Amino acid sequence: ACDGPLPVLGNDVLVPLADGGEVPYAALDCAASAPVLRRVWDDVAAYAPCYGSVHRGAGHLSQLSTRIYEESRAEVARFLGCRPGDQVVFTRSTTDSLNLLAAALPPGTRVYVFETEHHAALLPWRNADVTYLDAPRSPAAAVATLERALSAGGPGGPALVCVTGASNVTGELWPVRELAAVAHAHGARIVLDAAQLAPHRPVDIAELDVDWAAFSGHKLYAPFGTGVLAGRPDWLRDAEPYLAGGGAVRTVARNTGGGLDVRWHTGEARHEAGSPNVIGAHAVASACRALTEAGPDRLVAREERLTARLREGLAAVRGVRQLSLFGDDAPRVGVVSFVVDGLHSSELAEALSAEYGIGVRDGLFCAHPLVRTLLGGDTAGRGEECGAPAPADAPGAPGGVELRAVRVSFGAGTPEEHIDR
Ligand code: PMP
Repeated sequence: ACDGPLPVLGNDVLVPLADGGEVPYAALDCAASAPVLRRVWDDVAAYAPCYGSVHRGAGHLSQLSTRIYEESRAEVARFLGCRPGDQVVFTRSTTDSLNLLAAALPPGTRVYVFETEHHAALLPWRNADVTYLDAPRSPAAAVATLERALSAGGPGGPALVCVTGASNVTGELWPVRELAAVAHAHGARIVLDAAQLAPHRPVDIAELDVDWAAFSGHKLYAPFGTGVLAGRPDWLRDAEPYLAGGGAVRTVARNTGGGLDVRWHTGEARHEAGSPNVIGAHAVASACRALTEAGPDRLVAREERLTARLREGLAAVRGVRQLSLFGDDAPRVGVVSFVVDGLHSSELAEALSAEYGIGVRDGLFCAHPLVRTLLGGDTAGRGEECGAPAPADAPGAPGGVELRAVRVSFGAGTPEEHIDR
């Protein structure tokens, strides 16, 4: 049992099959949104008697809620190994966190980002001076590519590197510590997209020496709607508030010119205008605590065993090609994408659901340039419009290259039986 899954919601849901039978649902799309830990759900329910407005309320429940909100922030800071003085800003998602940072770039910041990133990490910088880095075919090549680009970029001015910790398509781990060292050697900052890393591996901001990290609660076994941006306070403190409104501001007064004099907060509140998502923050903190208490070493060992089992099982099926940027032996988390000769990926995904009760995802996984590189095709103007169903004419893409794949992704709540199925 010590090697078993953590209890999550949904594993006991029975789904009807095409043949009239039914099976427990196998949630193998955890990279999109992971099933919620039962413990997180219970913690959210336990918060109900404390439910109250935060920050500005004088009442007892307001004080309790405020304390829970701020304790949640501290719990997330511990989970992420934040340095003293680092800020933990609650956002809606990883997408929101990276857009917040993009909005806080000092003027003239140069941004370096690999074309292989998830769109959430690829797109927010496009109003800055961005250098898109070609897909590297090994972790060492990633480090060399960044080194070359930063050297060519020349000295002076702020610079930011944005990199993922684990790919949402191949599951491969990126050499974050090495990339951070290169960035810092050139005077650049680095932000880690930990959306796929945090659910699978411990993330330690101080030890990795990244300046910021972002993740999403709904991929970390908490419900939807809450994300985190954690790290260095200076750029955040110097930037205009991400959202303007109550909570972000210390004082507002009419001035003699007829306008407004506004003094913004300098802490996390600066970027958290409006009434915050206390339940979401509480849920994320609960998930952080649950993962820490379950033991990262045990979770990683179990995941590595199941990943190997999944990959070996798929390799034994004729016609299956697993996708990989860094090669078959590269270390990876429990995210595996593949194509099958002669079968369209969306038909395959539908069949896995209808015949086996397995929920996977097919498409381009909001990482179009990466999937194009992996499949060797041209995804421009074709395929999924991020989340859209397969086009009606999907089979028989130009040049015979199918521009979609199937992704199987699992997590701490996945029973071994789901992998075997
Ligand atoms: N980065 C990566 C690597 C992801 O996998 C995802 C979600 N698939 C995101 C960012 C965006 O996360 P969210 O949709 O929660 O904003």
